[in-house]
Amino acid sequence: MQLPEVFTHPAQITYLVLIAYIPCMVIEYIHYSLLQKNTVKVRKNAQYNFREISCNFALYTWRYFINVYFAFFTGKIFADTMNFQLFHINMNWLSLTLLIVLQDFLYYCYHYTSHKLRFIWIAHSVHHSSEYFNYTTALRLSPLRVFSFTTFFWLPLIIIGYSPEWITVAVITNLVYQFFIHTQAIKSLGFLELLLNTPAHHRVHHGKNKQYLDKNFGGILIIWDRIFGTFEQEVQPVEFGITKSVNSANPIKVALFEFMNIFNDFFFNKKKVKQKIKSLYSMKP
Ligand SMILES: [Zn+2]
Ligand SMILES: [Zn+2]
Repeated sequence: MQLPEVFTHPAQITYLVLIAYIPCMVIEYIHYSLLQKNTVKVRKNAQYNFREISCNFALYTWRYFINVYFAFFTGKIFADTMNFQLFHINMNWLSLTLLIVLQDFLYYCYHYTSHKLRFIWIAHSVHHSSEYFNYTTALRLSPLRVFSFTTFFWLPLIIIGYSPEWITVAVITNLVYQFFIHTQAIKSLGFLELLLNTPAHHRVHHGKNKQYLDKNFGGILIIWDRIFGTFEQEVQPVEFGITKSVNSANPIKVALFEFMNIFNDFFFNKKKVKQKIKSLYSMKP
């Protein structure tokens, strides 16, 4: 099975996908504008706020340049891990489907961990810190990739025999799929809600309502949340954001928000050494 040409420069895909993303944003924006014109109420947190979307695009651009730089390190870690490969898996539609499912499970593990370990939350919290939720929220990614540790979560796939190139295909497929679930315009996908991570499930994941905190970690599939007890159904309207609000649309402030919180806790707020060390990894104050 031939690797699609586009995946030979994975960092470039970060910007190539905008070809698909931007029309979705335009359609969503027009949809809400038409609803408002017809005096249908659109929630404020669904609307396109100029300051917020500028911040999201700035973070995405910043992330792009970091990705170009990071691709080198990711490639090196993948290449070194190849020395420990147990099997070699030939690629066909069956092995590709299995790869997408396995990578999705590892994504669930990464995503769960990023909400539970504070030094990984430094990076992931950026994606959650907006109090708006629309397609542009999907672009709100942290430039502090060094704190995301995602590369290490994909290494079991190399060990069992998948090539780094095809793992990259699975990772990008997962991320691109997740763009389409960042909307309030789609209420339900019917029976697919049982199997797939959908806009409704992902709205819950972005919620700061008490019952929605730390729920629905899935990437493409929602079955992992159903199996491991982290699933929550969308019932009451979602209030988006994080419990300690960032209160800024300045991309630098947004990117460094949780890093500065930890920095302050470590150097100024926590008195005992044990407390200081705990503040680096524990989400509990
Ligand atoms: Zn998350
Ligand atoms: Zn999201």
